[in-house]
Amino acid sequence: MDLRKLTAEQIRADLLQRRYSAVELAQAALEFAERENPKTNAYLHFCPERALEAARRVDEKIARGEDPGLLAGVPTAVKDVILTKGVRTTCASRLLQDFIPPYDATAVARLEAAGAVIIGKTNCDEFAMGSSNENSAFGPVRNPLDPERVPGGSSGGSAAAVAQGTAVVALGSDTGGSIRQPAAFCGVVGVTPTYGRVSRYGLTAFASSLDHIGPLSRTVRDSARVLQVIAGRDPRDSTSAFAPVPDYLAALNGNVRGLKIGLPKEYFEGLSDEVGRPLQEGVRLLESLGCTVHEISLPTTPYAIPCYYIICTAEASSNLARYDGVRYTIRSQQATDIIEMYAATRGEGFGAECKRRIMLGTYVLSAGYYDAYYLKAQKVRTLIARDFAQAFQQVDLIVTPVSPFPAFKLGEKIDDPLQMYLSDIYTITGDLAGIPCMSVPCGRTRDGLPVGMQILANHFQEALMLRLADAFERAGGFQL
Ligand code: GLN
Repeated sequence: MDLRKLTAEQIRADLLQRRYSAVELAQAALEFAERENPKTNAYLHFCPERALEAARRVDEKIARGEDPGLLAGVPTAVKDVILTKGVRTTCASRLLQDFIPPYDATAVARLEAAGAVIIGKTNCDEFAMGSSNENSAFGPVRNPLDPERVPGGSSGGSAAAVAQGTAVVALGSDTGGSIRQPAAFCGVVGVTPTYGRVSRYGLTAFASSLDHIGPLSRTVRDSARVLQVIAGRDPRDSTSAFAPVPDYLAALNGNVRGLKIGLPKEYFEGLSDEVGRPLQEGVRLLESLGCTVHEISLPTTPYAIPCYYIICTAEASSNLARYDGVRYTIRSQQATDIIEMYAATRGEGFGAECKRRIMLGTYVLSAGYYDAYYLKAQKVRTLIARDFAQAFQQVDLIVTPVSPFPAFKLGEKIDDPLQMYLSDIYTITGDLAGIPCMSVPCGRTRDGLPVGMQILANHFQEALMLRLADAFERAGGFQL
């Protein structure tokens, strides 16, 4: 079995035909992943016992003639900001290097209930803050397609694991693009669902009003399958939606004729040829499938970066206040009283980017600056959401680039935080508006680096978005 070519659908069929067992597959996947990992550093740790136990449950179900679930036996990687009971969850932070969660995230529990086999936890930017995976306390991740380049971030390990074939599907988290941008950089599919579509219970909070859990995979079908399993109301997350979950797999019927696709002019002005050319060819492919293309405008786009970096840092400064050395975290031994202990623990434990955001966030929330920064950013956020609402009165879906450039070199932007922030321009708007969006592979640059196409849909229109992506994938054949 070649793990790099397997899909969830194929695995389920193979298991039911007894071509191999889930335990055999889990062993092979663990062995392959542990062997490949030094090349990319995609995984921070593996959980072989948990994986084999999950695989055994699948084999037992099959032996009893029961349905083993939509994700039966599927080797799965989970970003290390998502809690796994009894399995270390570090958020790629020194602070949490020894943290063992006492419960599972809802998404994790739902994956395993559907037969998924979680083999390990993936590297990421510390507390999911970053766009290159270079902010991990445990070393950067290398892009499996070119080890001199970053895999994107913050879910870089999840994207790299799928691209190198050590996991068939992965969970990532997205606050401002952290699923879609690494998916684009590594040539895989990544889906950010509508805010509230997937429970955030057990996702370590970065910016709670923007945080999402979503799937990464080689094919659109596999992401649809994962979404099917993890979506839906969860009483443990009060922001999770009551809306019924449609049949995402049934929606992938190839019927995209007549769909109106909006191209926002603000997202294409000044776009480099490198990314622009594959994208234009992608748009032509959509037209050849019977879609019609319309220029639209999202006029608030130029204000999105400051808006996002005010709101996300404000929320982060509040969320990260809990890591004080009293619970969860390592504790500094350098202090004689409790206030000193808080400061020393946080000083030793947080990396530079987290400290930068805590300081920025504290500043924009402080008395005297709150109205000028935080309140104003909230108003801009409303305008951004309104831009999309108006656009979706004219078109069914919106297509844009994911990133202004393909995967960049390790070290290229790490000393210039502003350049790093600016690279998020096309992805943060979807999170700010709370709408579903995804990245699907759309060809390569002249240097052979993958380029992603972003598709955005109106709230809870994941089925339509996935249908277009699936038709595009089948017509273009761009997947790894
Ligand atoms: N790159 C963005 C940031 O640094 C997005 C991160 C994310 O989506 N978690 O905040």
